[in-house]
Amino acid sequence: MKKKYIETIAKPKPEEYEFENIILTTIDKVLSWARYSSLWPLTFSTACCAIEMMAAASAHHDMSRFGMEVYRATPRQADLMIVAGTITYKMAPRVKRLYDQMPEPKYVIAMGACATSGGPFHMSYGVMNGVDKIIPVDIYIPGCPPKPEALLDGIMKLREKIKDDRHLTRKVNETIKVLKNMRKK
Ligand code: SF4
Repeated sequence: MKKKYIETIAKPKPEEYEFENIILTTIDKVLSWARYSSLWPLTFSTACCAIEMMAAASAHHDMSRFGMEVYRATPRQADLMIVAGTITYKMAPRVKRLYDQMPEPKYVIAMGACATSGGPFHMSYGVMNGVDKIIPVDIYIPGCPPKPEALLDGIMKLREKIKDDRHLTRKVNETIKVLKNMRKK
């Protein structure tokens, strides 16, 4: 009985090779899989929402299960900016510069009411009403402050978005478009 079992394991039928050992995919899908499985956030925050962001990385909430516990200290090694806090007009150029220094493809989460719309300070002359005035935002998380669970939910939504993203295809199409326009001129 034991010998028969070993023979079955050692000699799979040809159709098993065909259907179980071959995976067909595209480079874009593999890259998207790698990206959403290991997002590296930038070590960055501007106000109180940051406390909840830090709590999300703690052992209790365990953000590392998404492969993203490594907060990077430089924008050049980060592909996710979690805007956690109020953005004042004085701070805005620094936020924009940090975003510009991040390599493509990069993603932004606006965490909390302040980053989304100015929050409780939206009438203040010194506060920007939403970080999307200076950089593109992928995911908005409501709340003042949002709980770590809300941030994790936002991260999961972002992962879904990256999963469907075809960055390479998009870039190739953009390049073809630029080349066509150059030819017309
Ligand atoms: S949304 Fe609330 S908790 Fe977050 S930075 Fe603004 S005031 Fe602070």
